[in-house]
Amino acid sequence: MKGCIAKNKPSLTLLIRDDDICHATPIWMLELLRDQIWRYRPVNLSVIPYTQPGMFLKAPMAWTDAKPEFAWNNPALTDHLASLRRADLLGLSMHGWTHHSPRLEGEAHEFSGVNEHLLERVVAGFEWFDSTVGYRMFVPPHNEIHAQAEQYFLERQVSVCRSLRDEEVSSLAASQASPVSRTDAKRILSRVPDKWPLTLYQSLIINKEKLRAGTSSACDLCTEVIASSSEHGLAVVTFHWWDFFQQDGKPDLLFIRFIQQFFTILEDSVTIRYLHYGHLADALQAQHQME
Ligand SMILES: [Zn+2]
Repeated sequence: MKGCIAKNKPSLTLLIRDDDICHATPIWMLELLRDQIWRYRPVNLSVIPYTQPGMFLKAPMAWTDAKPEFAWNNPALTDHLASLRRADLLGLSMHGWTHHSPRLEGEAHEFSGVNEHLLERVVAGFEWFDSTVGYRMFVPPHNEIHAQAEQYFLERQVSVCRSLRDEEVSSLAASQASPVSRTDAKRILSRVPDKWPLTLYQSLIINKEKLRAGTSSACDLCTEVIASSSEHGLAVVTFHWWDFFQQDGKPDLLFIRFIQQFFTILEDSVTIRYLHYGHLADALQAQHQME
């Protein structure tokens, strides 16, 4: 697999996103991922603040309980997050409010409209971030957020990490003389961040079910990450913690090995620097003070 991408190593700054952490996520599973997958790499955990039964579609999985609860009320989870923070391995974002997901065709995502009451609640929830984390980052469930809701957050110092909207790709294509693929659009539209708050674009989401339905190799995924990273080599790659486990809660060793291989190939192919949101916020603040 060596050298399957390029002879001269490009540079890549990578933010890893691990989505859907909630109050019922077993800590041993997060520890197993830290040990087997993330290892020395900082990871940005997208935490669902308030999980209610029936709201979060992954709740029927065997190991989640059915009580509504705030993530921050789980002392084992907050201890785990604090230990990652001490080791400088943790970026943290709020991932929706309840992560209510549509079940029926045409039903809205949690943030696909402008619900002022919900937006106010999220912004109030960020007060905890101000004192504990030091920055505000929001990851909309399913990467779906109304442009006005995003603007509301940005005006309140909340950065947003999401995928490109279809209309952003099509309006870029309309402004160019030649066709623009989604990968091209990610590369062109991802700017180097120059201030906080900002909108960070997801470069790639790695989804086990889709991978198993297709033919992409770990090397193909690396090629895609590099091709869709910004002109300045910034990329965001998203995983879901539950993807690394089977329905019965046992680790999915095949998928774990596949992702280990993905990181080995990526680190072999590019000179890589891993960042979490806090590094990014600090760097932007330092840059701002120098100006
Ligand atoms: Zn999610």
